[in-house]
Amino acid sequence: MKNVELNAVVTQRIDLAPGLMVLRIAPEAGPVPVFQPGQFAVVGLPASAPRTPLADPEEAAGDPGRFIRRAYSIASPSLPGEHLELFVTLVRSGELTPRLFALQPGGRLWLGPKITGLFTLAEVPVDQDVVMVATGTGLAPYMSMLRTGITANPSRRIAVLLGARHSWDLGYTAELTTLSRVCPNFAYLPIVSRPAEEPTAWGGATGHVQSLWKGGALERAFGRKPTARDTHVFLCGSPLMIEDMTSLLTGEGFTVHEKGRPGQVHVEKYW
Ligand SMILES: Cc1cc2nc3c(=O)[nH]c(=O)nc-3n(C[C@H](O)[C@H](O)[C@H](O)COP(=O)(O)OP(=O)(O)OC[C@H]3O[C@@H](n4cnc5c(N)ncnc54)[C@H](O)[C@@H]3O)c2cc1C
Repeated sequence: MKNVELNAVVTQRIDLAPGLMVLRIAPEAGPVPVFQPGQFAVVGLPASAPRTPLADPEEAAGDPGRFIRRAYSIASPSLPGEHLELFVTLVRSGELTPRLFALQPGGRLWLGPKITGLFTLAEVPVDQDVVMVATGTGLAPYMSMLRTGITANPSRRIAVLLGARHSWDLGYTAELTTLSRVCPNFAYLPIVSRPAEEPTAWGGATGHVQSLWKGGALERAFGRKPTARDTHVFLCGSPLMIEDMTSLLTGEGFTVHEKGRPGQVHVEKYW
């Protein structure tokens, strides 16, 4: 669609690693839209917007008048605030992320009017524990959930299982480590899949998040094995991880949560 009005502005950009950033955006007019933790916004830029030099050159330029939109989970808390926080990875061959990575504070973009999504804690009974499994930026919706309400239900045990290739791709590590120290009901379990590429020895878990589940990391964190009777599991990020984890979990008696068919496995696929 042509002539879409850019209606939001970048208020802050934090580069965590090459191709990994926290982007804070705010509507130019009116308040930050209301949302539930776990939901996503849609943002966009025209194809004429510049691409970061870190990205691959575009093979076929396509229609320069086209408008590119993509969904991004919100990482900021669902509390009155001045911005929405997005956690974005650069897809070097992609359409939108090379353009988002060319934005600096003050840069303008389009923010869709509706924030939606069913990947929330709304349908998790209060007596259930929650395991949040993510690869890469799949952590974003959990940051919103944790920042909004980790203290609301101190008897609920919560764990974040976060997988990335390298330690420097593990976003929000300082915040999550601090949370795990101050909240006795919260465990943060990061894992890296390419430890040989670390500049200094990585002393933590190695492999994929699936191996954390299979290897008993949660039994050690929770003091018992999570089961379909007492735990809801959230899966967010890469389709491969989601497929693997879903088949592991269904093999242990969990069922996938769907509209009208309550289950214990909640899924948000990024692509
Ligand atoms: C509900 C929802 C929430 C999302 N939230 C986030 C988020 O919080 N942060 C975020 O970075 N992305 C998120 N995404 C993915 C995002 O919408 C885009 O698909 C992504 O940023 C790539 O856009 P692009 O235009 O640059 O690439 P495209 O031109 O659309 O190319 C897409 C291709 O790139 C690959 N790809 C897409 N996303 C990734 C990724 N994250 N890592 C590696 N390869 C990828 C896939 O092969 C995909 O087919 C979300 C997607 C959905 C559906």
